Amino acid sequence: RPAIVWFRDDLRVADNPALHAAAQTGRPVLCVFVWDDETPELRAPGGAGRWWLHHSLASLAESLERLGSRLVLLSGPSESVIATLLRETDAAAIFWNRRYGGVERRIDESVKTAARAAGVEAASFAANLLFEPWTIRTGQGTPFSVYTPFWRSCLAAAAPRRPGPAPREVQGASVPQSLDTVTLDDLGLLPTRPDWAGGLRETWEPGEKAAHEQLQRFLSDDLGDYREQRDVPGVDATSRLSPRLRWGELSPHQVWHATIEKRRGATAESASTFLSEVGWREFAYHTLFEHPDLATVNIHREYDSFPWPRLHPSALRAWEQGRTGVPLVDAGMRELWRTGVMHNRVRMVTASFLIKNLLIDWRRGEQWFWDTLVDADPANNAFNWQWVAGSGADAAPYFRIFNPELQRKKFDPQGDYVRRWVPEWDTPDYPEPIVDLAETRQAALAAYDVVKRSR
Ligand code: FAD
Repeated sequence: RPAIVWFRDDLRVADNPALHAAAQTGRPVLCVFVWDDETPELRAPGGAGRWWLHHSLASLAESLERLGSRLVLLSGPSESVIATLLRETDAAAIFWNRRYGGVERRIDESVKTAARAAGVEAASFAANLLFEPWTIRTGQGTPFSVYTPFWRSCLAAAAPRRPGPAPREVQGASVPQSLDTVTLDDLGLLPTRPDWAGGLRETWEPGEKAAHEQLQRFLSDDLGDYREQRDVPGVDATSRLSPRLRWGELSPHQVWHATIEKRRGATAESASTFLSEVGWREFAYHTLFEHPDLATVNIHREYDSFPWPRLHPSALRAWEQGRTGVPLVDAGMRELWRTGVMHNRVRMVTASFLIKNLLIDWRRGEQWFWDTLVDADPANNAFNWQWVAGSGADAAPYFRIFNPELQRKKFDPQGDYVRRWVPEWDTPDYPEPIVDLAETRQAALAAYDVVKRSR
């Protein structure tokens, strides 16, 4: 009777506690991934995410084959697919690494209960966060709503465990004929007509091996300057590890310990700053754990009364396509479309522009990012959109409205970044801004007054 490993947001063989536990049982191991776009409320990855997932699954399948096993792909509603799998394989055990979203937790809980009721061992593991959400609490036992004391409390907690190696061997299990397996191509995760993924192919090589190379390159070449340079979008100074962490090609434990090893001398402060950014990821996930509707519902409910004006679809389209006539915004939106990521500083500016200059509901922006980011993440994306909107945990105050022109002058003074993505900038072909920045700022502040009055 086999042990099943159910892969989800943890597409790696090293430091994978669920895989490790299965290999330890001495049983044949069946590794599965379930593509589920049928469970209502479970948010399927957007277009760029699906592109990444396709390639990362292909890479995981190769790694598992090298270890002596294989990756079996199944498709359908997770709960019934796993129930059938356990039955058809007569599994003795099923293992997985935890997820933290509301629907995901409900599914996992129900799979666990059903498996145990059928006499199958079911166990879940902490793998994708440094600190489990229920372990980091204020003195009153409540979750933190402010980042600085949150991270201080994390740093005071027991150090994250050391990452484990990949198993030396995983004994493969046979797959019963009766099981309705699918191929990667059957899942249809890649764009066909039009094939818009050329920029992603040029920019990225998904998979665990490339993820480790990227981590090592960042730590040896760029970590030292991270603190100084991380806000400058024209310099490749940040780690670009976000899709690796999103899809679990790397665990945060691997990132944490590899960084700590470099935290010496001149690099010490930069390393701590870098780890505190990884800390924002932890904070976003802990916030998702407490607020499962993070992508749709304002954490601060008084923002429900925000008087969003009637949507101008042409303004939303101009923003999506990087044609707003505001150079830093257009550069960011074009970088996003081409590469599937955008520099953090520019994410803040483009989000602020959508919400506070175009007065478009943050959920529209969140959805666009969800569809176009290769790192589109159930916690980080919604958390940061709410942060910019002012409605989120430890959010930027609403009245702090980024001026995209001042931001450009400060963070891209030579225009390196803007010119890379908007070559026609500074020529007569480049349009005037679609809105007046000062006027729309005033309109946003007036709308914010409505929220204030509703408190
Ligand atoms: P680095 O500066 O090298 O940071 C290292 C890691 O720390 C990142 O890979 C990421 O995992 C984490 N991190 C850094 N900044 C943040 C942050 N503000 N919040 C949470 N985690 C952080 N990040 C995503 O991973 N997925 C998203 O969908 C996402 N959507 C965003 C939407 C908006 C509107 C904004 C303002 C930010 C968003 N971010 C998101 C956060 C941040 O912009 C990216 O994590 C970062 O730009 C990724 O680049 P990097 O890996 O080079 O980051």
